[in-house]
Amino acid sequence: MIPLQKFSVGDVVRVKKKHPCGSDRWEILRVGMDFRIKCLGCGRIVMMPRVKFERIAREIQSSAVPDPYKS
Ligand SMILES: [Zn+2]
Repeated sequence: MIPLQKFSVGDVVRVKKKHPCGSDRWEILRVGMDFRIKCLGCGRIVMMPRVKFERIAREIQSSAVPDPYKS
């Protein structure tokens, strides 16, 4: 489980459950009580309660915040 504060708009997050299209990566479009996320496989946008998203999230693959240790 990843703490809420780690998520920010623009992050690409890998989740435990694959979308029916076969992709397990989602881009965060909005954070709050409900997250709006977009499937990177098929482009579908869904709303999901924050607690549910926290439960299925495995890792943040690319963060919107620039990483000072890269580049
Ligand atoms: Zn999909």
